[in-house]
Amino acid sequence: ESAETGGPTIFDKIISKEIPSDVVYEDEKVLAFRDISPHAPVHVLVIPKLRDGLTQLGKAESRHSEILGNLLLAAKIVAEKEGIADGFRVVINSGPSACQSVYHLHLHVLGGRQMKWPPG
Ligand code: 5GP
Repeated sequence: ESAETGGPTIFDKIISKEIPSDVVYEDEKVLAFRDISPHAPVHVLVIPKLRDGLTQLGKAESRHSEILGNLLLAAKIVAEKEGIADGFRVVINSGPSACQSVYHLHLHVLGGRQMKWPPG
């Protein structure tokens, strides 16, 4: 598995269903599945099926605007499906200092408990 190089990651195997995941929402463009190591009662990852080279938000280019918009709209759908639409958090870790560990752009949808702010 690659780190920041733009090669395949474990999420490609989750998209292809080679590695099983607990899918919450899926359409032709995005896949949303439960994080294997949840930090809240609801902790879902939303990823683009085709990431078009987008490893991390800090390297996004204008051609990625549709992918980025689709991810946010899918986050809202996930929140509704999970019953947390009245209060949830969306997080994107970008780069090593933000503890990004998988270099296939993804956002975290967190909720089901009172979220703290600032997050630390
Ligand atoms: P990051 O730290 O890169 O923002 O988040 C990556 C997330 O992917 C982590 O929260 C980690 O628990 C999750 N993760 C890593 N490998 C797997 C896996 O094989 N299955 C699932 N469901 N989640 C994973």
